[in-house]
This record gives sequence, C-alpha cells and structure tokens, in this order.
Amino acid sequence: MITGKNYIGSTASGLGTTFKTFNPIENSENDATFHEATEQEINDAVALAKKAFFTYKNVSGLEKSNFLNAIADEILELGDELITTYTKESGLPAGRATGERGRTIGQLRSFANLVKEGSWVEASIDTAEPNRAPLPKVDIRKMLVAVGPVVVFGASNFPLAFSTAGGDTASALASGCPVIVKSHPMHAGTGELVTSAILKAAQKTGMPNGVFSNLNSSGIEVGTQLVKHKDIKSVVFTGSFTGGKALFDIANNRPEPIPVFAEMGSINPIVILPNTLENNAESIANNLAGSITLGTGQFCTNPGLILGLKSDALTAFTKNLALKLSGIDAGCMLHPNIKKGFASTKEMVTAQDNVVVLTEKNAAENPNFAKSQLATVSGKTFLKNPKLHQEVFGPFSLVVQCENKDELLNVSQALEGQLTATILGESEELTNYSEIISFISDITGRIIFNGMPTGVEVCPSMHHGGPYPATTDSRFTSVGTGAIKRFVRPLSFQNWPEELLPEALKNKNPLSILRHLNGTATAKSI
Ligand code: NAP
Repeated sequence: MITGKNYIGSTASGLGTTFKTFNPIENSENDATFHEATEQEINDAVALAKKAFFTYKNVSGLEKSNFLNAIADEILELGDELITTYTKESGLPAGRATGERGRTIGQLRSFANLVKEGSWVEASIDTAEPNRAPLPKVDIRKMLVAVGPVVVFGASNFPLAFSTAGGDTASALASGCPVIVKSHPMHAGTGELVTSAILKAAQKTGMPNGVFSNLNSSGIEVGTQLVKHKDIKSVVFTGSFTGGKALFDIANNRPEPIPVFAEMGSINPIVILPNTLENNAESIANNLAGSITLGTGQFCTNPGLILGLKSDALTAFTKNLALKLSGIDAGCMLHPNIKKGFASTKEMVTAQDNVVVLTEKNAAENPNFAKSQLATVSGKTFLKNPKLHQEVFGPFSLVVQCENKDELLNVSQALEGQLTATILGESEELTNYSEIISFISDITGRIIFNGMPTGVEVCPSMHHGGPYPATTDSRFTSVGTGAIKRFVRPLSFQNWPEELLPEALKNKNPLSILRHLNGTATAKSI
C-alpha cells in the first residue's frame, strides 16, 4: 500500500508539504499524496546511513549477495500493483513495465553474483623482502573499499531500472555503501513500492537499519541539501544537463568535494557511409524509424543526429525515413513537463535558419502525446550553429547532409561527448573513413557497427557513459557490473597483522578469489 511517506531506514515519516504524481494518459493527477522530505528528515536519513555504514561496510560478500537477491525476490512479490502504479505514473505501457522490472531484477542478481564471487575488490599483494638491498621491501596489500553513504537520484525515464532499486542502487549496495534515494517526483508511488521491497529484504537478511532510505521531493531543495550534506560521499544522477551540472557544481564547491556521476544528454550520432546507403537504404530506414520512436524517444541513447554525404540516395533515404516516421502513431510522453520540454526544444531547433522539416505536421489529440519529427540541414549550417547540436529529448532526429568527406570530418570534430556513436557501413568502406571513425571514437563511450544505439545490453563489457557533457566522468559506466567502481576507493595495508587483514587479503585466500600476487594473477594462497 502506498502511504506517501518518506522512509528513514525502516521508519515512515511524513512531516513536509504534499504533492501528487500525474497520469499523462488520463491527463490528470493520481490519487496518492506524497510528503516532501523536510530538512530534519534529510538529516535523520543521512545520520542513520552514516551509522549503518560502520556495520554494512564489513558485511561479507555472501551476505550482501543474499540481500540483493532478496530485494529482487521482494520486487517480484509486489506483483501487479507495481506494474499498475508504474504505468499510471509514467504513461509507459505494461509490457515496458514488465520488461524493465525484468532488467531491474537481472541487475540486482548480477551484482549479487559479483559480490558473492568476490574478485571484484581487485586484491593485490606484494610480499615483503626483508633482505632486499639497499633497503628492505615492506609487505603491502591493496583492495577496493566502500566510500560511505551514496545519494541516488531516481531517473524519470526509467522508473525501475535507473531509480529506487535500479543499477545505481544495486551497485552502491553491492560495494558496501548505504543508499539514500532522492525519489523522482513523477513516479513517487513506484518508488515507495520498491522501497517497501528493499526494506523487507534488508530486514529478512539482517542488514543494519539505515542501509537504505527513500526521500520524496517535488522541487530541487531536497536533492540540493543531500548533495551538500557533509556525510554524503558520492552522488549518482541521470537526467538533464542543467540538473546534472548544477549538482556537480554543488558537490565541487563543498568544503570536502565529492564525486557526482551524472549521466546527462547525448544526441548519439549515426554516420551512414555511402555504399551501405546504396545497398541497405530500406532496412536502415526501418531500423532508424523504430529506434527514434522507441519509448516515444525518451531514451538517453535515442539517435538524434544522422550524418551522411549529400547524394540522391541520401535525399531519397531521408524522404523515406520521414514517411515511415509520419506513419507511426504518436506516443505518450512521461509527463506534461517533459512534453513541454520536447515541444520547445524541437521548435527552437526547427526554427533555425535553413532547417527543413520533412515529417508531416500532425498534432496528437492527447496533449501529453508526441508525434516524431525528422528535419534536415546542410553540413555547413550545422557547423555554424551550435543550437543544432543540442539534445531534443523525445522522438526527433536531424539529418546532416555533408558536401563531401572533409565536411563530414569537420562535423564529426565539432561534436561534443556522447554516450554512443554508430557507424553504418560496408566492412570494406571503413578504411576509407578511418579518420572520421577515429574522431568519433574519441568522443563516445560506445561505438556501434551496423546496429542501433537504443537497447543497452546489461553485461560486464558494456560501457554506458562517455566524455563530457554526456557524463561528468567518462571513466565510469552506469550499466553493467563495472558500475560498482563508482563507489569504492583503493586502500593499502602496509605490514598489517595477518589476523586483522580483510578476508580478501589474508595469506590463505579464504575467499578463493583471483588476486595479484607479486604481479601475477592467481587464486593461490601464500
Ligand atoms: P531533471 O530535470 O534533470 O531532473 C532529474 C532530477 O534531478 C529530479 O529529481 C530533479 O529534482 C533533480 N534536479 C534537477 N535540477 C536540479 C538542480 N538544479 N538541483 C538539484 N536537483 C535538481 O530531469 P527530468 O525531470 O527527468 O526531465 C527533465 C528533462 O531532463 C527532460 O525533458 C530531458 O530533457 C532531460 N532528461 C534526459 C535524460 C537523458 O538520459 N539524457 C533522461 C531524463 C531526462 P525535482 O524533480 O525534485 O525538482
């Protein structure tokens, strides 16, 4: 049952002002009322997380694994109520909700497996050489340890997989850090249901109270206060550039600066090379139309920019793509504000000089629904106008028609950091365009060959991140088991007594993990 309260560990509390979530399909508010967290509730949640950290950081990998698996089980136990609440708060269909729940469960279980196995701590041991000349060598051992309480900002476009128990929370809990979620105001009910699952799992598996808290908000104050709090050690965010950069700046201006792992905008350029356009124009148009409109374009990997060489084939292709997009029904956007943002950025981009709109103007009947739009521009115009480089969050894409290879290279060099970049080409034409491919690789976190950027496989080799402004730290991923690295730091133990060393660093290797022993990877004991 949804209470609308904040959860400070296992304690429900509702002292602040109230707000409601919104059903974009019905175009009306949902019933439940939520309490915004007060300053006192925020301080209480952080104090409890700090206290919980002293116990939780020493919880074994096996126990953390049991906790994460129990969260997955409890989320499934929520059954249809979770799916119904999700759809009412997001306008996304039940099929998407079920799929996203599956992904969320899968993420929790993959982190459970990771910490149960244990080698992720990157244990490294260099044994002492007391007789080394001219100076003896000390015994020194290193591993990754948790940093402390983490704040996770729920993302509007993934109410499950990037929110309350999403990949950020799963990876932070796996690392040994307590988590405070700043629930996204658009899906506070979904967030509360998932919170109830996490708290049940924590209780069943004996985790300390305060290992998880959930705070509601309908404005920026709660998040701002959390990021400023001296006992918060790391922040994770997915959303707009404005929000991510503001939080990054707050964190850097603290007396003790802390990392903010913000995933912000990306236009995910697609380069279509000429031979593949000649041979595969129809299938590329079909795939692109599907990718641009998937989830009503509300994915961070949505293809917002298509680059090609000016030709009759490209003209025919853009017309065909526009026709296919015009034939796809309008889709519901997450919230009236997101729809408003889509409409205004799209209008701003299409109002720029020399931008030609190719899709039919066909307003959707429901005010929160959006039709996709395709526009085109020359490479010269694109290079001159930075307004054309920004993200239009929703089903929109801009085709840039470059005069020649040199202009295509210049356009590639003008792009900012991206989450993904895609090359559509025949294998044999890649060498011809190697310089462009090399530039594109420098500005992206994932480079795709003959595929679509939407659809992010959750696996250890995935990198979901990218150079600024796609994220605030291109070294880290928010998808896949590597996401755990955001919440740990290395700690070296010098000449430390064997009996006081963490299990991962003991001579006998009781966890049987892979370690670096005097520079060689091995699971052997010493
Ligand atoms: P948002 O405006 O960036 O907000 C995300 C979260 O950050 C919210 O919980 C918000 O708090 C908080 N926040 C925003 N600005 C803040 C600030 N200056 N200080 C402290 N906290 C702040 O994103 P959104 O609400 O999800 O959607 C708005 C727009 O963001 C979209 O239209 C889209 O353009 C973009 N977006 C991009 C992606 C992507 O993956 N590229 C994903 C989602 C959204 P409150 O809501 O409580 O104010």
